[in-house]
This record gives sequence, C-alpha cells and structure tokens, in this order.
Amino acid sequence: MTAPRLLIVGPQGSGKGTQGVRIAEAFGIPAVSTGDVFRANVKDGTELGLQVKAIIDAGDLVPDELTGAIVRDRLAQDDAAAGFLLDGYPRNLGQVADLDAFLDGRDSPLTAVIELAVPREESIQRLSRRAAEQGRADDNEEAIAKRLSIYESETAPILGVYRERGIVDAVDGVGTLDEVFERIVVALAARGITA
Ligand code: AMP
Repeated sequence: MTAPRLLIVGPQGSGKGTQGVRIAEAFGIPAVSTGDVFRANVKDGTELGLQVKAIIDAGDLVPDELTGAIVRDRLAQDDAAAGFLLDGYPRNLGQVADLDAFLDGRDSPLTAVIELAVPREESIQRLSRRAAEQGRADDNEEAIAKRLSIYESETAPILGVYRERGIVDAVDGVGTLDEVFERIVVALAARGITA
C-alpha cells in the first residue's frame, strides 16, 4: 500500500476544496487547506489574519515564507504522520521547492497529485454562484479575474514538475460531486492508494 500523501490542484471554482475534504475523510487523513487557515485567522482577527487580510481580499498570493511556515507546522503534527491532503499549497514553483525540501527531509515525498480539470467558463460560473451563497470577500469580479490569472501563470506550471515525476492524475472535474469523487478514488486506487 502506498501512503496517501496527496495534493489536489485545480483552478478556483473547480471544486477542489469540497473534493479534498471528502478524500481526506475517506482516507482518514487531515485536509490541509492554506486558504481555510488564512480565512479562519482573518475571521478570528489574529495577528496572522491582520497581516494577510488585504492580500487575500485583493486576490494576491501571501508571501511564500509565511505560507510555507504554516504548512510545515501543520504537516509536523502527529495526525499527518500517516498521510495528508494538501489543498491550495504549493501554488507556485518556489513553494514546490520549499515543500520538496521539507518532505525530502522526512523521506516522505508526495505520492499523488490530483489535477481537477474544469473549463474556465465553468469555473467562473461556479465562483459567481459561491459569491452569492457565501459572500467571500475575494469572490468579487476583480479578485476572481486576478486569482484565475495567477492560477494560469503561476500555479498551472507546478503540474509540469509533478508530471515529470509521474505522479499526476488528471481527473475530469465536470459532473456531480459523487461522480468526480469516484473518478478520484479510481485514479488513486490504480496507484495502490486505497482507503
Ligand atoms: P483558496 O481558498 O485556496 O483559493 O485561497 C484563498 C486565498 O488565500 C488566495 O487567493 C491567497 O490570497 C491565499 N493563499 C492560499 N493558499 C496560498 C498559497 N499557497 N500561497 C499564497 N497565498 C495563498
């Protein structure tokens, strides 16, 4: 059996947060979402929250150093020893290098990267819907456009690195939650990653 050290990557609105939580539950591993960590800190008014609020609201990326430290702390906790699912980190090539250094030091590299593929039009529609439902400050038109453009220019290239390692599974993200989840489970099972 291969340890579930997973990363889920996809454009904003691809459903990666929802699928990430389901996968983590199915495998009994923590879902580590940097976006969720930042939002919780903003909501609670912590020092970190105050530091990152304006950056997040504008749709920009929080500095790598700050983000990397949060992820390293989280992955060092006991409940992540058997595996974890990363959602939203790494998000650029610098963060890939930071994460590699950390995981290599623990002799525990990522075992699979799930690429959720959703056409741009569909992402935008889903994000607009979420804006109406959840009222996220960064789901306004300007921040959405910026986040999607950062995704294309900075985040999509990280898939090339992982593809070279042969650990990427591209999964069609269009369908019901159950259909997409099933596709992910099948792809992971083919790698010997089973719940
Ligand atoms: P998400 O929920 O993953 O879309 O993240 C929401 C926001 O949190 C992003 O638009 C960024 O401002 C910030 N953020 C989340 N993850 C990262 C990351 N890995 N690097 C830098 N900023 C991040």
